[in-house]
This record gives sequence, structure tokens and C-alpha cells, in this order.
Amino acid sequence: MLIPARMSEAEEQRWVRVMLDKLAAQESRRTLGDAELAERARRLSEQYFEGRARPRSVRWVTNQNTRWGSCTPSDGSIRLSHRLQGMPEYVVDYVLCHELAHLLVPGHGPRFWRLLEAYPRTERARGYLEGVVAADRLPHVPGARDE
Ligand SMILES: [Zn+2]
Repeated sequence: MLIPARMSEAEEQRWVRVMLDKLAAQESRRTLGDAELAERARRLSEQYFEGRARPRSVRWVTNQNTRWGSCTPSDGSIRLSHRLQGMPEYVVDYVLCHELAHLLVPGHGPRFWRLLEAYPRTERARGYLEGVVAADRLPHVPGARDE
């Protein structure tokens, strides 16, 4: 790290803390690449669906603003909205599981949800996403989120 020479020790320590906080924030927001995303989907399929869901491609897309994920069972492709990037891992995993489950069961009938019960944080992740949607709909309070 480059530290300006004339900082006092207290300034220096504060500066180092700020930089470390920034690094930590970047780290926690680091997003998976498409290859890592595909690997993760493979692992989730193994863990929760006995490896039966086998997507042919899994990737991030930026043109999906009303859905968190989508899949095309006929060609085995899964797409995740880039808006999930930076959300907790269990939420991304839930959306992956959701789309993986669609490769096995189309639609949102009882069979579909029974399948998803295998993923233990389904309810929690759905609550999180509902919260995000609700927060988006709140009226904008001037000054509240502007910094
Ligand atoms: Zn669905």
C-alpha cells in the first residue's frame, strides 16, 4: 500500500482502516463468473436433485429486470439476472435451484415446490427477494438514499 509520507500515525491508521474496509466490501461483492456459476449449479444439482438437473449453460444476463432467473428446458439454458449480483449467496443459490428445478418440472405446481423443499433456505430466500421488490416500490424519500 502507498501511504502519503506526511500523514500522522493516527491519520495513517485511519486511512489503512478505510482501505481495508473498501477491500472487504469489494471482496464480499465479488461476483461469480459464468464458469463459476455453472460449477455452482452443478454442485447444487448434485446436492439437492441427485444430479438430475443438468443445465447446458448457466450465465448472467442484464436484460432481465422483471425476473430473477429464467430457463429454457428445451436447450437446458439457465439465465440469472445481474440484479442478483451482490445479494447473499443463499439467495443466488435459491434462484439457481429454482431454475434447476424447472429443468425437471415446468410451472409452479405442488410438484415443483415439493422438489424445491430440498433446498433448506427456500423460504428465507423468497422472503429476501420479496423484501427487495417491496423496497423498490417504496416512494422515494428525498435525501434518504442520496449521498
Ligand atoms: Zn419459476
